[in-house]
Amino acid sequence: MPDTEKISLILKELYPDALCSLDYGEDPWRLLIAARLSAQCTDERVNIVTVPLFEKYPGPYEMAGADITELENIIRPCGLFHTKADSCRSMSRIICEKYGGRVPDTMDELLALPGVGRKIANLVLGDVYGKPGIVADTHCIRINGRLGYYPEDMKDPYKAEMILDAVIPKEEQAAYCHRMVMFGREWCMARNPACPNCPVRDLCRHYKENYRNGRNCERHKNTNT
Ligand code: SF4
Repeated sequence: MPDTEKISLILKELYPDALCSLDYGEDPWRLLIAARLSAQCTDERVNIVTVPLFEKYPGPYEMAGADITELENIIRPCGLFHTKADSCRSMSRIICEKYGGRVPDTMDELLALPGVGRKIANLVLGDVYGKPGIVADTHCIRINGRLGYYPEDMKDPYKAEMILDAVIPKEEQAAYCHRMVMFGREWCMARNPACPNCPVRDLCRHYKENYRNGRNCERHKNTNT
């Protein structure tokens, strides 16, 4: 098992401000909507789209009454706009009707909202309600597999979440996952990770298996040297 404490320390030094890259202005409902829109879309694009979106629908009550075609047209640039519009409006309606406009703060209640899976639920629980939660997104799954928490080819978000939940201190989980996103964009990219100069390479199983003793794996030979 990797040295979690040392890895966390290095990541903290690299990224002291472990912030969510979605713009939601501390509003849980806005985070929920932005996170739903981010499926198969970049956070940058979501942040562009949510400006006019939240101007037109500032809260769940406004979105609950949205005309679906108008809503679809605004979120179209995020892709999958039919299903995203439907789940955004449906979850807003439930939040208004069942929770009086407040986003619920338990995993089970969040999972019962249309379009909300464990990744979004953990994001909301961690960022808004200060509860522990591993956001097992693509960066998190890839990097921790390379580090050695589980096999690199393991892509199951639930298994990754459970394994990491057992080793990452509860109070650090939300920040750890935000740092994973930043680290995954800057160093441990899906293609051509910057292993030779990586700040956590000495703690990384992928590095040890592929680069130690001056050896470079076939896969990276022509890309990282
Ligand atoms: S050494 Fe390579 S694989 Fe390991 S964390 Fe760094 S960039 Fe990722």
